[in-house]
Amino acid sequence: MPKFFETIARLPDVYRPVEERLRDQQEVERKFMLPLLAQQASRCMECGIPFCHGAGCPLENNVPETNAAFRDGDYAAAWKLLSEKSPMPEFCSRVCPALCEGSCTVSLNLEPVMIRQIEKAVSDYAFEHHWVKPDAPEKRTGKTVAVVGAGPAGLAAALGLNRLGHTVTVFEKRPQAGGLLRYGIPKFKLAKELIDRRVALMEASGIDFEYGAAVGDDLSLNYLAKRYDAVVVASGTPSPRDLPLPGRDLSGIYFALDFLNGGASAENKQVLIIGGGDTGSDCVGISARQRAAAITQIEIMPKPPVERSPSTPWPQWPYKLRTSSSHYEAGDDGHNVRRWNLQSQKFLGENGKVTGVEVAAVEWELSPTGRPLKFAPVPNSTTVIPADLVLLAMGFLKPEHKFERENIFAAGDAANGPSLVVRAIADGKKIAGRVDKFLAK
Ligand SMILES: Cc1cc2nc3c(=O)[nH]c(=O)nc-3n(C[C@H](O)[C@H](O)[C@H](O)COP(=O)(O)OP(=O)(O)OC[C@H]3O[C@@H](n4cnc5c(N)ncnc54)[C@H](O)[C@@H]3O)c2cc1C
Repeated sequence: MPKFFETIARLPDVYRPVEERLRDQQEVERKFMLPLLAQQASRCMECGIPFCHGAGCPLENNVPETNAAFRDGDYAAAWKLLSEKSPMPEFCSRVCPALCEGSCTVSLNLEPVMIRQIEKAVSDYAFEHHWVKPDAPEKRTGKTVAVVGAGPAGLAAALGLNRLGHTVTVFEKRPQAGGLLRYGIPKFKLAKELIDRRVALMEASGIDFEYGAAVGDDLSLNYLAKRYDAVVVASGTPSPRDLPLPGRDLSGIYFALDFLNGGASAENKQVLIIGGGDTGSDCVGISARQRAAAITQIEIMPKPPVERSPSTPWPQWPYKLRTSSSHYEAGDDGHNVRRWNLQSQKFLGENGKVTGVEVAAVEWELSPTGRPLKFAPVPNSTTVIPADLVLLAMGFLKPEHKFERENIFAAGDAANGPSLVVRAIADGKKIAGRVDKFLAK
């Protein structure tokens, strides 16, 4: 059996040219020709014990089998294998950091198989060929379930429960479905028509959506729990972490999500993003598209190593430096835009408007394997980063839920704290199974 992973290299670049994608606002990734990706699929070792499936993907996708079917041009089989496990692969294959690739066996010595790109090709092919149909159950059970929140966890729970024959209504406080898929993740990572397409399929399969319905405000959770046989709370993590430093009340300081949803413009601004994660990176991408004058992203943590840190040995998700498409768009090859080991001290301003942030350097104590343990300020290291737009991207608070009725379940970020789309979907799917068992009692 030829070892294609040794002779075929992983494709180096998955993105369209920077200037093109900054201009057109479309999804940043290129669409690959199927034969080129089939070659990539042939890099899969088809491991007897696939870690991508077991240790990597929270949905336990049938990765090696899907890769093999795709490589052989059997797209129908590839779609069947993929959709058996992943209820909305069109989302995961665009926004997932690809936990599967972090535990791909090939990645022990070489670049991992392009599992996410292959998944995207399979899923796009299935939609283009109208294989994805409304999934209405043959028989209804007569049981009713209310789902609170139409983010990925709520959508996955609704899909699973509806398929099992229960009658599902999704209550969503926003005017449209998607949760952070729509109101967080920018369209250059995920085109919003894909959410509309999925919701249309769900409606056609018998799931009802009520928009503008804020549970706790417009109607109570208790009411839902009495009116429905079960309730799934999938309302995410609505509260962003604040930075209550002196000067916080100056104008020009926004939470990242408000900025990402059009609450401020970065055009010609000196943008400072506080927080080095995904949300911060999305702010970099939007700022670049709005032609900011300067973009800086700061992080209190140390700069991760370029290669997998020994603190996260294979098959764990590697702790290492990740440079996103947005960073490249802002001219960052890993060094220009981002700065590490910086703690914000105070916001500075003039005439009520922010003009910069005073920061101090910190030094980290690392574990023997390189995991950051604790930090201490570096004396006399204070500097000022000028900024007239400051974006707070320091994550979200885990909500506290105390349910008094046994027919209320929580799923996704609402249950587990801020995480990933794939984990929210996996949790929504799992909760559908738990609710089904509860309803069968
Ligand atoms: C800017 C940003 C970028 C991200 N990028 C990525 C990424 O690239 N890849 C990735 O995997 N993850 C990413 N994430 C994380 C990911 O989006 C979340 O983990 C995921 O969306 C959580 O899904 P969820 O369904 O649990 O919650 P959410 O997506 O937050 O959905 C919750 C839904 O509940 C609704 N809701 C809330 N309260 C109520 C109420 N009282 N009544 C009715 N409805 C209510 C909300 O309006 C929302 O629609 C990102 C997060 C952010 C903020």
